Amino acid sequence: MASSPPHHSPSTPVTRDAPHPFNNREGDVIVRSSDNVDFRVFKLLLSLASPAFRGLFELPQYVPKEEEQNHSDWKDGVPVVLLTEDSTTLTNFLSPIFPWGAIQECTSLKEWRLVLEAAEKYQVEGVRSAAEKTLLRSKFIQTEAMGVYAIARCFDLEAAARLAAKSTLRQPMPGKFSDELHYASAAMLHDLVTYHRACGQHAADAITIPKEMDPESSWNGVWFACHACPSDPAITPPTVKPNPRPPLRNATKWWLGFLKEIEDQVNDRPSGVTIQEWVSTSPSVKAGRACQICRKRAVEDTIKFAKQLGKQVDEAIVVVRTLLPVFPSGGC
Ligand SMILES: [Zn+2]
Repeated sequence: MASSPPHHSPSTPVTRDAPHPFNNREGDVIVRSSDNVDFRVFKLLLSLASPAFRGLFELPQYVPKEEEQNHSDWKDGVPVVLLTEDSTTLTNFLSPIFPWGAIQECTSLKEWRLVLEAAEKYQVEGVRSAAEKTLLRSKFIQTEAMGVYAIARCFDLEAAARLAAKSTLRQPMPGKFSDELHYASAAMLHDLVTYHRACGQHAADAITIPKEMDPESSWNGVWFACHACPSDPAITPPTVKPNPRPPLRNATKWWLGFLKEIEDQVNDRPSGVTIQEWVSTSPSVKAGRACQICRKRAVEDTIKFAKQLGKQVDEAIVVVRTLLPVFPSGGC
């Protein structure tokens, strides 16, 4: 990343003061943003948070005489440090430096990236971890999972990268485009595609009729009871003990069709929610409702089944997470 050191400008710009808590008159240094907003802060806090600022403050400093203090390097008796970051980035960057501070939800992914770049440039670990904490709770995890993944990988935010990767499972690959993808490497995107595909495979594998089942299991539905619907003689029902009366029949074709549909769906979008959402649009369930015997229980039993199977699929995906190696260092 290109980094410009703090510098001093010869001209005197029109400035405005940042709001609380950056307007404390006790502050002993002013940090000026690229859009001329003055943040009055404390050298001690900046020095504790940032080795880069500590180095700057340790340099011998020219203190002008009273009559010379109109110069842009000085304001109200304290030195001014000019930075290349804008005021939004500095608000996000400086907030966690205060003992009570935290980063608020950013309004765009670009805002997140800029504050993380500043944290890297000025070597402020506290800002990086504060940014990840807020990012983990952010709506962007759901709405722009690909973009959050790219940012998290670029700045080595492992928890955020994992959560965003999981969130991409709700969408088929290649997912929703984000400008932040321009900053991610091909290797990072390869990791994500590999993860997404492995989850799809594990989710599809979880949709297998068990060989044995409890009579109360959600796998046991009207599809094993109907004598009117066509069935597939090759698909025998699971064993239930003690033998139920009447005995289970071979599964109806409409339900087997539903299993095939959700297998395809979770291959593309490997998540338990995918199965639950599919019940209302499934052509096979619609066919089941057309049967005089199945119609009363087709939807009810399938919803119950989809809920339970969704949990099984989510558990199968958790296994994939542990199979993947820890994400390697990003370094964009
Ligand atoms: Zn039927």
